[in-house]
Amino acid sequence: MNTTIETLNPTAVWKNFKLICSVPHPSRHEEKIRELIVNFCKNIGLNPIVDSANNVIVSKPATPGMENRKGVILQAHLDMVPQANSDSKHNFETDPITAYVDGEWVRAQGTTLGADNGIGAAAAMAVLESKDIAHGPIEVLFTATEETGMDGANGLKSGVLKGDILMNMDSEDEGELYVGCAGGLDANISFSYHTEPVSGKAFQLAITGFKGGHSGMDIALGRANANKVMFRLLQSLESLDVRLSAVNGGSLRNAIPREAFATVIVPDNKVNEFKTMCDSFAKIVTFEFAATEPTSKFEVNETSATTALTLVDQKKLVDIIRALPNGVMRMSDAMQGLVETSTNLAIVKAENGEVKISCLLRSSVDSAKDSLGGMMVAICRLASATITLTGGYPGWKPNMNSPILKTMQSVYLDNWGKTPEIKAVHAGLECGILGAKYPHWDMISFGPTIRSPHSPDERVNIESITKFWEFLQLTLLAVPTK
Ligand SMILES: [Zn+2]
Repeated sequence: MNTTIETLNPTAVWKNFKLICSVPHPSRHEEKIRELIVNFCKNIGLNPIVDSANNVIVSKPATPGMENRKGVILQAHLDMVPQANSDSKHNFETDPITAYVDGEWVRAQGTTLGADNGIGAAAAMAVLESKDIAHGPIEVLFTATEETGMDGANGLKSGVLKGDILMNMDSEDEGELYVGCAGGLDANISFSYHTEPVSGKAFQLAITGFKGGHSGMDIALGRANANKVMFRLLQSLESLDVRLSAVNGGSLRNAIPREAFATVIVPDNKVNEFKTMCDSFAKIVTFEFAATEPTSKFEVNETSATTALTLVDQKKLVDIIRALPNGVMRMSDAMQGLVETSTNLAIVKAENGEVKISCLLRSSVDSAKDSLGGMMVAICRLASATITLTGGYPGWKPNMNSPILKTMQSVYLDNWGKTPEIKAVHAGLECGILGAKYPHWDMISFGPTIRSPHSPDERVNIESITKFWEFLQLTLLAVPTK
């Protein structure tokens, strides 16, 4: 096993990455890496500050002749996701990461590598210590705790950084430039319900086998939402006086629900009709979603239950779920194929007298996200349910006229003979939060090629780091004047 990654090219980046691997830095245990960065900066004669959110901020003056360039802020996060194979005894709080060369890739022994975002941090360190790279005024923002709440980005104060251009180095595909992301908002809906004894035969309805997926990145794929499908079935069963005893669908706010379960009580004289109706419902939905949900499964099994929601509360719940929006609300004007605004009806639970419904709203346009929240508030007012909107964070609306985008596109074209792909993600990035505090910033995100981040299979492509590093230096050289 070749663990001498510090000898790989470009050594300026790899030796710093080796240093980063040597100190444990799982998210929320970042004291050691913070100390490493602070000492690194002091050793090269710079004066780092640690802000109240544990971000490390340091500036380096322009090299001779470059003083009139726009100020660039290089940004990377200090923490990593701690994931190990089940047979690994790795202790992320005490053990270093053992990185090794595996063909064209560098990966870690049994754990996440932390190339996300250690390579970005290592590149920033390389710029800070360089003596032969031409650049204008540089600031480096090493953010804290990106992976578990974006605490550093959230806690950054406005007015601290002086630069005009933010270059985030936390993207995972060399040759792509990211220019936008989505903000988020949690909708939490609840109401209490009453139950009453109901006679009849009890059944469990199970809708399973949907693909689910990331509630932002996969929301435009046309997959079925198990909660929506379940309540469509429950609404159609109202004609048979079927009563709802319990319901439980979805588990994570940021995942499209793959499964939903309901316990219902069916009048004894309508059991056959009930089964026929469930059967034909399954056929209809299977047909509708044949392309996107080929493994969907509908089951009806006998169970026991003797109480159900009162009819008033049952109808209220069915109406709310049927009325709540779900999926893509609007596509982006700024970029073709990008979802602008969406919502995921993630979790529905009715147990112990309380209904709880969780939705995650996303948009690259903050006002559109707020408007969608208002739509849900209206539905809840009609239904006399309680709603709170919490955890909001801003998005980053793509600016296709961004000067740094134009600069980087032409640098890439001149040097590698093709135009980099321009992308945006329908998910949260630090840039959204950072940009809201520095609205004048021209922002971009790029990085080397990383595969399977956040898993023990995480690996970074060696060749892509060479290009990423050259691209960074050439961009710094091409930054326009103030
Ligand atoms: Zn990252």
